[in-house]
Amino acid sequence: MSAKIQKSTSPIYKLANPQAPPAFPKIFMKTRLLEELVRLCLEALPHKAFGLVGGEDHYHPTSLYPCSTNLRNTPEWKPVFESYGEFYQDPDLGFVISTPEVKTVLETMDARRESFVGVFHSHRYLCAQPTEIDVALSSDPDLFSYIVSVANPAEPEIGVFRLSGGGYQTITIVEC
Ligand SMILES: [Zn+2]
Repeated sequence: MSAKIQKSTSPIYKLANPQAPPAFPKIFMKTRLLEELVRLCLEALPHKAFGLVGGEDHYHPTSLYPCSTNLRNTPEWKPVFESYGEFYQDPDLGFVISTPEVKTVLETMDARRESFVGVFHSHRYLCAQPTEIDVALSSDPDLFSYIVSVANPAEPEIGVFRLSGGGYQTITIVEC
């Protein structure tokens, strides 16, 4: 499934929306939130950025919660990543957020009466599409996956996806 790269109302990023957008699903994102997402991913360079997304509901994300723990190189996870080929021999690629950090963020969302609606991460070398490992490791199809490609930091691209059943669906982003 290839994406159609669309200009947005903001000069600082583009949107990787579906080629022929279906009526649903769509998510509604404020330009402010899209800009914040891009900024987090650019500011993290040369490192990756990742975190959780809170919202009123799945279709109205409102807040980003950058995370910092990464279990990717633990004895439990390192072999899992490395089993996905040469690309993942690089210990700097991939992320797994620790349960305590997720719990802390969920408490903050709760206190702000938000729902846990998604997970975001940057792609520093690849386009804004889920990788095989993104699809394999996403356990919950109810959480949308927000991917920002900063492979070309001058032209970041944002895509939102629903990962499930070994594949993914591209969600149309409607800027508002
Ligand atoms: Zn990814």
